[in-house]
Order: sequence, then C-alpha cells, then structure tokens
Amino acid sequence: MTRNKIQAALLCLCVVLLYCVSARIGQHNAFLNAEAIDNTELDEPQDDWVMPTPEPTPTPTPTPYVDPDLPDITIGEWNYKLIDNNHVLANTFIPPEVVETENSQYIDSRVKEPLESMLAGAREAGFDVCIRTGYRPYRSQAEIFFGRASSIAWDGTVEYAEAEMIARKYVAYPGTSEHQYGLSADIMDSQTTTMSAEDVEELPLLVWLREHCAEYGFILRYPKDKQDITGWYEPWHFRYVGKEAAEYIMDKGICLEEFIAKY
Ligand SMILES: [Zn+2]
Repeated sequence: MTRNKIQAALLCLCVVLLYCVSARIGQHNAFLNAEAIDNTELDEPQDDWVMPTPEPTPTPTPTPYVDPDLPDITIGEWNYKLIDNNHVLANTFIPPEVVETENSQYIDSRVKEPLESMLAGAREAGFDVCIRTGYRPYRSQAEIFFGRASSIAWDGTVEYAEAEMIARKYVAYPGTSEHQYGLSADIMDSQTTTMSAEDVEELPLLVWLREHCAEYGFILRYPKDKQDITGWYEPWHFRYVGKEAAEYIMDKGICLEEFIAKY
C-alpha cells in the first residue's frame, strides 16, 4: 500500500467517525428538546381545566305525615285561640259581643246558641244541668285571684308573694283564664256544691257532656290526663271550638294545645 492510499484510508475513517459522532450528538439534542417540550407543557398553567363535579345524589325529601282526619281549618280563627299561662289576654280584652244566657251568666254571642242547645240536649237526656260560670271579665278574675292570695297571706304565716304562688295552683292568674275570652262555661247540676274534680268527674251529667259536647262544638278543655300540658283538671269546664275541631279533639283524646300544634 502506498503512503497516499494509507492517508486516503485514514481520512475516510476520520470522516466516518466524525459523521457518527455528529449523528449521536444530534440524537441527544433531539431527546433534550423533546424533554424540554414535555416539561413546558407540564409547567404551563392549566386555566381551562376544571375538576369534574360529581353528579349530586338526590336526597329524598321526607313527606311529612298528614293525618287525613285533621280538619281543614284556619287555625288563626277566633274559635281556636289559645289562652293559658303562656298566652295571656290583655286586661283590656273583652269579647266583641257578650250576651246573657241561662242562670244570669254571660257568653260570647257567637256561642250562645250552641251552648244552649247542648244544655237542652242534656235535659232531654234526663239531666238537671246549669251554667255555673260563663264569661268572666278581667276585673272579676283579678278580684277572685288577689282575694284568694290575700286570704292565704292574711294570718302572716307566709309572705304575700308566696301566697300568690300558692293561689296560682287554685285560681287562674288574671289574663290566663279562658272565661275572660267568652267561649267557655263551667257546667254542673244545680245540686252539687263541691268543685273537687275527683269528686264530680264520674257524675252521669259530666260523663254525658264528655260524650256529647263535640256534637255541639264544645270540648272538655282541661282533661285529667292532660294536666301536665294545660295545668288544670276541670271536668266541668267546656270550651267552644266549633264542631269540626271538637269532634277531632274529643275523638283523638287530645287537648287544645296539642291540636293547635298540628297546624
Ligand atoms: Zn272554668
């Protein structure tokens, strides 16, 4: 081999090596560029990407139980008004119109006819019956209450403030008596003198009234088993609410507070 041929062969070899090296560098740069592109894509803010909101699972709305027997009435009407220790009548309250009824008692004019019909019904059933108390104005209630408190405190064994607390167990505080509202009547026979609830609760007249009062629109306002709600047990005290409500209340054996709470 001549020297020129050896030089030419070496030159060719150098060219091949250079080509290989440059090709390898090109591949590496391409790889780096690709990585850079990928990184750029990852680093870009993803403004238009929104976390997918899961479909809300519908929660079933519980259907409140509505008693099909519950009368369709407007509970704010005059005949459903609640009067008790928490619902006090103003000392100026008087019913729209008060009229005289039996036994020189007075009653709201809207209740005179149903009350007298109920008494007539009791008489037809063979009972001796009379109204002991109907409408009682605020001033009369105050005289009864403060008179009772004074008599308790009279001998000096208790302070007057304590005497009032004791009196509240026996007499409604002025403004908390249903008799001031004019729709209530204490009904008894003409002979009985005691007003002890336990002594009179089984009188045939009062039993008859409990069974029939709703037919005339009245309820037994202070039943024995509702004393913890009403504060009173008075088997003689009847209150007008109207036939629909009265039939429901007496049939279900509930008190007026429980009935109103259903609306
Ligand atoms: Zn009464």
